[in-house]
Amino acid sequence: MSSLREKLRVLEELQQIDLDAHAAKTGLDAIPAERAKLEVSVKEARKAYDDQKARLENNEREKRQVETLLGMDRDKVKKWEGRLGEIKTPREYAAMSREIDIAKKSNETQTEAGKALAAAASEIKRLLEASGEALAEVEDAAETAAAKLDKATAEAEGKLAALAVRRATAATLVEASLLAKYENIRKRRAGVAVAAVVGSTCKGCQRNIPPQLSIVLQRVNTIETCPNCHRIIYSHDAVNPPAPPPPA
Ligand SMILES: [Zn+2]
Repeated sequence: MSSLREKLRVLEELQQIDLDAHAAKTGLDAIPAERAKLEVSVKEARKAYDDQKARLENNEREKRQVETLLGMDRDKVKKWEGRLGEIKTPREYAAMSREIDIAKKSNETQTEAGKALAAAASEIKRLLEASGEALAEVEDAAETAAAKLDKATAEAEGKLAALAVRRATAATLVEASLLAKYENIRKRRAGVAVAAVVGSTCKGCQRNIPPQLSIVLQRVNTIETCPNCHRIIYSHDAVNPPAPPPPA
């Protein structure tokens, strides 16, 4: 088995691996919600477009109805006007004339309605075109963003796989009991089980450790924990001594 100094370095590495894996996993977990947001944006843009399309279709249907009515009334007027000459009595003549007037009035109303529909149609067409362009833009942006998410997913998965391999190797370098202790603390202490002591400050909780403990840490003979946050602590300098200067 390795020396305690090496084991502490392994724990340091495990800690980094676990933090990196946690970050990668958090990123990965956020991706489905990102995708759902993209789908919603496309759906909303498509609905806006479909609404304008439906409005235009309604408008065109109403226009056809108006044109049909108009055609029928015009035929009626033509027919009745043709018959006026055949009418014998003034009373019948007056009645037919009145009918013709009513039909002509109705024609005018229908013609006005047709004009209003045509005016509305040009506004709807403008909105339809704008919402069609907006839809295309949203679809393009969503496609680009989805491709980025695919890439991020592949990267995070690749990273997690690589970290899992590194972790498995690192885990074989410390005994099971130390690994279990590490896991236990990690679960209870927001994912951070190991903390360096720099000067006399525990970097896990930013509190000072007693001077006596600082001296113990320098020896790197025992596994110690912070009296405040209960994380495994080590003196960064004692565990990672500066490389000796190259021989002159
Ligand atoms: Zn601490």
